[in-house]
Amino acid sequence: MTKHIFVTGGVVSSLGKGLTSASIGLLLEQRGLSVRMQKLDPYINVDPGTMSPYQHGEVYVLDDGSETDLDLGHYERFTNSPLTKHSNYTTGKIYQSVIAKERRGEYLGKTVQVIPHITNEIKHAIRSLASKDVDVVITELGGTVGDIEGQPFLEAIRQIPLDVGKEDCLFIHLTLVPYLKAARELKTKPSQHSVGLLRQIGIQPDILIVRTERSLGQDNIEKIALFCNVETKAVIEEVDKEFSIYEVPEGLVEHNLDQLIVDKLNIDADPLDMSDWSATMQRLRNPQHEVIIAVVGKYIEHRDAYKSIYEALDHAGISNSTRVVFRRIEAEELEQQGPEIMLSGVDGVLVPGGFGMRGIEGKVQAIEYARQCEIPFFGICLGMQCAVIEFARNVLGLEDANSSEFNADTQNPVICLLEEQKEVTNMGASMRLGAQPCMLEPGSRADASYGVSDVSERHRHRYEFNPEYRDQLADAGMVATGTSPDGQLVEIVEVPGHPWFLAVQFHPEFKSKPSAAHPLFQSFVEAALQHRKQRVQMPVR
Ligand code: GLN
Repeated sequence: MTKHIFVTGGVVSSLGKGLTSASIGLLLEQRGLSVRMQKLDPYINVDPGTMSPYQHGEVYVLDDGSETDLDLGHYERFTNSPLTKHSNYTTGKIYQSVIAKERRGEYLGKTVQVIPHITNEIKHAIRSLASKDVDVVITELGGTVGDIEGQPFLEAIRQIPLDVGKEDCLFIHLTLVPYLKAARELKTKPSQHSVGLLRQIGIQPDILIVRTERSLGQDNIEKIALFCNVETKAVIEEVDKEFSIYEVPEGLVEHNLDQLIVDKLNIDADPLDMSDWSATMQRLRNPQHEVIIAVVGKYIEHRDAYKSIYEALDHAGISNSTRVVFRRIEAEELEQQGPEIMLSGVDGVLVPGGFGMRGIEGKVQAIEYARQCEIPFFGICLGMQCAVIEFARNVLGLEDANSSEFNADTQNPVICLLEEQKEVTNMGASMRLGAQPCMLEPGSRADASYGVSDVSERHRHRYEFNPEYRDQLADAGMVATGTSPDGQLVEIVEVPGHPWFLAVQFHPEFKSKPSAAHPLFQSFVEAALQHRKQRVQMPVR
C-alpha cells in the first residue's frame, strides 16, 4: 500500500518547499524506501513552457519532454525518483483534461463542477503515482495556503485520507517564523494563522517544518505546538543554510525528521544511511582549488533563470575538489563594455540557453574572446547556436551569419528552422523536447568526456544547426562531434585546436547530480582548473 505525504506551505512563498520536499525524498530513499515525487502548481498555464524565466525561473525539462517547474530539478538532484508528465500538474492541465472529458460526454449530462469533478481529477493525478512498487508518494503543493487558486488542490488532498485511509497519509506544513529586529523576537503568530487556515479547510498538519533565521528555542517550539495542535517533537526547525542547499537534508536528519515520518506512517524502513551524501558534502566543504566561471546570459539578475546550470557547475566543482565562483554577466552589458573588461581573469566562459534576440551580440563577443584567448568555453543550446554564428562570421568570414530566429533575411542562416518545423504555429508544440539519442565521434573531446559512444540528452529548442554549412565549418576548424543517430542533426560542435571549446544543442545541466556531476561539466571545470594553473604561473603583466 503506497503512503502519501503532502507538503504545503504558509506565511510566504519562496520558503524552499521544493528543497524541503526533495530532502524528505532523499531521507526516505536513504532508509531504503521507494519514493515518487510530484508538484502541483495552482496557476492556470497548462505547463510553465510558455512562461518567461522572470516569472518562475527556469523551465525544467524531463526525459519525456514535459516542461516543468524548477522544483522538479531539485527532486532529480536529490532523489532517484523517476519523473514523468505525471510529476507536475497545474490548474490548467487539470481543467484541460476535465473539459476534454466534458466535450466527449464522459460526465453523462451532469453539471461539471469544481467539487467533485476538478477535485477528482486532482486526486486521480496524485493517485496515478501510487503502485505496488512505490512506498511513498510525496506531493508538494505550490503557493501558500489561502491562495484562491490553491483551494481545489487543498480540498483534494483533504479528501485523500478518506479514500486511502488516514493512517497512510501525512500532512507536512512549512511555515516561517520571522525575527523582528525592533522587538528582538521571533514571531510565531503568522505560523499559527497559517495552520489555522489549513484547519479551517479540514487539514490538521502532522508535522510542522519551521523556516527561521535563528534557532527557535524550546519555548517557541512548545508555543507553536500548542497553538497549532501538533506534537512538540513534530515541530522541526529549519534554520537558514547560508553555505549550500545541499545542507538541508543534514539539518532535517539532526531533528530526526526521517524517524518521525517513518513512525507516523508506520513504515517498515531500513536504518538511515547517509554515507554517500555525507561524502559528497565533505568534498563540497573542503575544496582544494578555485576557478572563476563567467556565465554570460540574458536573465543574469534572476538567479533561478539558470538554476540547473549553476547547480551542474557546483557538482563539477565537487567532483574536481574545486570551488566554482560564478561571475554572472549580463550579455548586453558585455556588448557595451567589451569582453576584455568583463572577462578578464576568468577561467572558463559558459553561454547558456535562451530565446530572443536581446544580448545575442554580447554572447557572440564573449565566445570570440574565449576562442581567441584560449579560455575554456562551454555553449549550451542558444550558447551553441551563438558559437556557430561566431565561428561562421569571424573564421569563415560570413559577416551576416546568423540564426533565422534573429534575422529572417540573412544570406547565411547557419542556424535555422528545419522544414518540418516551419508549419507548426502553436507555441507549446513547436519545440524539440525531451530525451534524444546522440552518437559521439570517436576520439573527440565529447567522446573522451562521456567515456561511451552513444548518450541520451534532453532538448528544448526550435532552431537547429544548418547542415548546409557543416562541411565549410569543419574545414575551417569547427567540427560536429555529436549527431542524431541518422547523422542528420548536429548536437555537439568542438574546435579541436582549442584547449576546451565545446558546445551542445541539448541541456546537459538537467542530468547532473551533486554526487554524479555531468561528464561535460566535469571536463569543463577540469579544463578551467588547468587554465587557472597556467594563468597563475604566467600572470598577465
Ligand atoms: N532560441 C533557441 C531555439 O529555440 C535556443 C533555445 C534554448 O537555448 N533553449 O532553438
